[in-house]
Amino acid sequence: MQTQNTDMNKIGVVTKKLLGHYDVQHANRITTCVLSAKLWKHFETTNRDGSAQRVTAVREKHMDPVAIGDRVTFRPVEDGTGMILDVLPRQNYLARGSAKPNPRAHSFEQVIAANLDQIIPVFAAANPRPKWHMLDRILVAAEAHQIPSTILITKYDLVKGRKSEEELQLAINRYKKIGYPVIVTSAKDKLGLEVLGNTLDQKTSLLVGKSGVGKSSLMNMIEPGLDLKVQSVNSSTGKGRHTTSHLEMYPLAKGGNIIDTPGTREFGIWGLDPCCLSDCFPEMRPFIGQCKFGLSCQHDEEPGCAIRKAVVNGTISPFRYKSYLRMRMDL
Ligand code: GDP
Ligand code: ZN
Repeated sequence: MQTQNTDMNKIGVVTKKLLGHYDVQHANRITTCVLSAKLWKHFETTNRDGSAQRVTAVREKHMDPVAIGDRVTFRPVEDGTGMILDVLPRQNYLARGSAKPNPRAHSFEQVIAANLDQIIPVFAAANPRPKWHMLDRILVAAEAHQIPSTILITKYDLVKGRKSEEELQLAINRYKKIGYPVIVTSAKDKLGLEVLGNTLDQKTSLLVGKSGVGKSSLMNMIEPGLDLKVQSVNSSTGKGRHTTSHLEMYPLAKGGNIIDTPGTREFGIWGLDPCCLSDCFPEMRPFIGQCKFGLSCQHDEEPGCAIRKAVVNGTISPFRYKSYLRMRMDL
């Protein structure tokens, strides 16, 4: 049944989800909403092979038609709450495979966040040690969804003037050479805060980093108003479980938003066609199609592989190539 007063409907952005309730921001006001039955009824998700699947038939516990960052149509109710009626088309999104109750069960696409301007992988220079293969996975996920990345290294004070500084710089150069911007910061020394502030300005950024890398300290320095919120997100969630309920979007005073993801459960390369993986390594793109076996080359042990040749002559980093081979095994 169509209701007449659709002029009461508003469009807002989903900033938080918790236990079936969604905070929707519209004109600087937050309305806590539930989902309409219609949304569930028409909700389809994607299988690993790309085919669509009705979720009502599955009733997957972790499935959700609405993601953080989604633009939605909602109708406010008198008591100050509201109902989400529709999700507007996504400009882009980041997804992962849903958790499986057992290894043989089906996995579905689970959208983590939508309408992102950039992804910011965050690593500490030390304590904890940066895991560069993990960075490569995040970068590949971002490339697969055509979302730009800016790499953020914090706690630089812990390596400055030490031998490990040189090692870190070599890694940083590896990514700069490919074309990824790298921002180096320290909350302790107040290093790189302005550059970081400018990078976040007017954009919706997804911060991806393991708890303990120093995200909260950094965000509190560039946005003191966030203080309590960022802390409480981290302390209340603990490890990054396979759920999106702890994700939250925070508005920045000067404009723009950050979405914090405590924990780094892998995401994004789920459902990626193995033949597209090399495409997600920007430095490999110029060589695709130049192998002896053309586009069917997997760039592994095949003779006449242009990408392996580029690794041998130093054009492509052996470390990144190793990441490629590792990821290929997982697809
Ligand atoms: P989060 O879990 O990523 O939000 O990390 P926190 O901001 O809570 O920081 C984790 C730990 O690293 C805390 O003990 C901080 O005091 C410390 N820390 C954060 N930033 C820096 C930094 O720039 N330099 C140093 N030396 N320690 C830092
Ligand atoms: Zn090849």
